[in-house]
Amino acid sequence: MSQPLPSPAEIAAAIRNIPDFPKPGIQFKDITPLLADARLFSASIDLMIGDYKPGMVDAVVGIDARGFIFAAAAAAKLHAGFIPIRKKGKLPFQTHEQSYDLEYGTATVAVHVDALKPGSRVLLIDDLLATGGTAGAAASLIRKLGAEILEMSFLIELKFLDGRKRLGDCPIRSLLSY
Ligand code: AMP
Repeated sequence: MSQPLPSPAEIAAAIRNIPDFPKPGIQFKDITPLLADARLFSASIDLMIGDYKPGMVDAVVGIDARGFIFAAAAAAKLHAGFIPIRKKGKLPFQTHEQSYDLEYGTATVAVHVDALKPGSRVLLIDDLLATGGTAGAAASLIRKLGAEILEMSFLIELKFLDGRKRLGDCPIRSLLSY
């Protein structure tokens, strides 16, 4: 008999809060207990995919590094390709790069120039939406390649940081909000 789908509250209970990591004032959302639980991990992927079915999505793009975990699993479930967006300097082939502002300084993400075909239908996935800088830069790279973002999906959204306002009018899904 199949087990009932876990509730978002049950998934939330498997995420550990680590105060002052990696620096003072940040409360880090540690997803490793969730990943270690087969039932909760699989349900998280199903909920992040929503109503998308195989054939509706050409590629799932994941953001370095925890986004890869969810995006790769989602890609396999959707019979779609997986495309990594990585921190600058990690991808071996020719890349496009996009920088974005951090609280102090800037960061840069990159994608292979041939990673997506123009017109590809893409789901963009990361573990967590905070200020939206990372996802916004990733979205710029996807659009630069001529692909279409159907939806951005996050396991966690830190609502108080208002990241959505940096992401335009693209549909955004998040499972858990804080
Ligand atoms: P941002 O660009 O501010 O939206 O930050 C999102 C990225 O930073 C994601 O790739 C997250 O993995 C990571 N991140 C930001 N804040 C946290 C947090 N409190 N806990 C875990 N990861 C975080």
